[in-house]
Amino acid sequence: MTVRLLDGREVAAHLRRDLTTRVERLGDAPPRLAIVRDGSSEAATMYAASLERAAGRIGLRSESIVADAGHTELVARLNADPSVAGIVVAWPFADADADRALVEHIDPAKDVDGATPTNAGRLARGEPAFVPATALSVIAMIEAFGIEVAGQRVVVVGRSAVVGRPVANLLLARDATVVICHRATRDLAAETRRAEVLVVAAGVPRLIGAEMVGRGAVVIDCGINAAEGRVVGDVDFDAVAPIAGAITPVPGGIGPVTPMMVLRQTVESAERIHSAAAANAGSVA
Ligand code: NAD
Repeated sequence: MTVRLLDGREVAAHLRRDLTTRVERLGDAPPRLAIVRDGSSEAATMYAASLERAAGRIGLRSESIVADAGHTELVARLNADPSVAGIVVAWPFADADADRALVEHIDPAKDVDGATPTNAGRLARGEPAFVPATALSVIAMIEAFGIEVAGQRVVVVGRSAVVGRPVANLLLARDATVVICHRATRDLAAETRRAEVLVVAAGVPRLIGAEMVGRGAVVIDCGINAAEGRVVGDVDFDAVAPIAGAITPVPGGIGPVTPMMVLRQTVESAERIHSAAAANAGSVA
């Protein structure tokens, strides 16, 4: 069987073209993306810089702001500013309590990485919501490659608030039969082997080996792990590819699509702000 490679770079390029057109339609000064980060975290600084570059490539303005004392006031100011379409708190944040406080203050309408409890609740209830970008990128890949999930047995490995849980909710909303596995799952291999679609977000390098995948399954790997001086996924790609029907590579699978999902949700918010401003101007005239 020839495995189908699910190339995220291709999907990201397509999304980039679409978003560039949508930003152009927003006129000269579209509302921007604000990225709030912990100045002491090198990883957060790098993530913020990569998001800024990605925003720049679609013509969207962005600013990366270091949060220190008075951070919740900073979020209140960004919430009230009509020139800000989206607010993202770059991970990791050294102080988890400060991180939570920041996130909880974000206006859900500007929460373009689906981090607030309000958006998580809406998603869990099956209502329209902004969704964590990595989870959304799994759906973007499934849609881009025409992978059927309705009625299928989909197994998600991982139950974190940023990937596993939201991805399970998104799949449930698309009529998949979802099984969520985690650290306490008794026989992980028995569960994953039965998956028609397997989504892995465990943060364990090469957790999923050949013996854990059913023949012809679609395997989507969200993992990004440093191992032996390179980036590897949560799936042992070389071992699983000969068995799977389709598989995402790492790097080059979910990774390139994730920032595009933050940008897509930011553009959606910007479009809403833009239409509201146009309607207001109309009613004044
Ligand atoms: P996390 O550590 O918060 O959660 C991991 C989950 O996996 C937990 O629910 C845990 O129960 C489960 N798990 C761990 N070991 C397991 C095992 N041996 N068997 C079964 N379940 C197990 O991690 P996270 O933030 O959800 O991230 C998961 C992976 O996705 C990481 O590799 C991370 O780097 C990656 N990630 C990628 C992106 C992206 O843009 N592609 C974004 C965020 C996270």
